[in-house]
Amino acid sequence: MFAALVDLVLPRTCAGCGVPGAMLCRACTLLLAQPRAAAPRRFPDGFPPTAAAGAYAGPVRAAVLAYKERGRAELAAPLGTALALAVAAVTAAVPGPAVPGRSVLLVPLPSTPAALRARGRDHVRELARCAVAELRTAGLPAREAELLRRRGRVRDSAGLSAAQRRANLAGTFILSRPGGRPPPGALVVLVDDVVTSGATLTEAAGVLAATRGTADPPVLAAVVAATPRRAAATPVPATGEASPGDLRIVAAGPFTGTVPPVDRLSGRGRRD
Ligand SMILES: [Zn+2]
Repeated sequence: MFAALVDLVLPRTCAGCGVPGAMLCRACTLLLAQPRAAAPRRFPDGFPPTAAAGAYAGPVRAAVLAYKERGRAELAAPLGTALALAVAAVTAAVPGPAVPGRSVLLVPLPSTPAALRARGRDHVRELARCAVAELRTAGLPAREAELLRRRGRVRDSAGLSAAQRRANLAGTFILSRPGGRPPPGALVVLVDDVVTSGATLTEAAGVLAATRGTADPPVLAAVVAATPRRAAATPVPATGEASPGDLRIVAAGPFTGTVPPVDRLSGRGRRD
């Protein structure tokens, strides 16, 4: 009803492309309906198999920024649905027979205290909640699990190289409950809005991986959008370090219900 009232007062526009009508128009929604494997050009050691619902560019980037930084909290629903698609894609890629009833734990990447204060809300948790609802509606036994929290002070990572980001992040995340570990066999999926260099996901995945047994599936990750690789002509920086723009969308073509098995989504051999 509130939405209906708002519609009477404020003409709603698509957060992606600006056309009047829905908060996210059909064309822009479709840009977030094709989960792909996302991978940094240079895999940080331990980068988790990661699916992204779309490429962080154009209308998708505009929509994520509107949600994250410009107060359009209502976008949690469509962006959460996109995140759910990415979660479904990456969990479907785990090799081996599907285990009936195996729970899927969505672990939101904790924001920095400064970011939480500035935004007045935890936008990643809101995305995770919407994604859980969507996955449960689809019959997946998903739930949110706040397994991680941040420790200490971390510099803003803007402008840092990939190696500097890793150093900056080392020791950033700890288990929110010491000794707390996910149930054996559960699929653990880190969730975040955007992946750039992969350093943050790698750091967080390392903390979670330490809680897993040898028979457990790998820690996975899913994001709304991944920064696409820049034009092929862009030379690799002479320092040999990846920059935040180096993430690519690996697969070509629309999501058809399957993505390559996890062992092909990630791994140090997969460079171009
Ligand atoms: Zn649009």
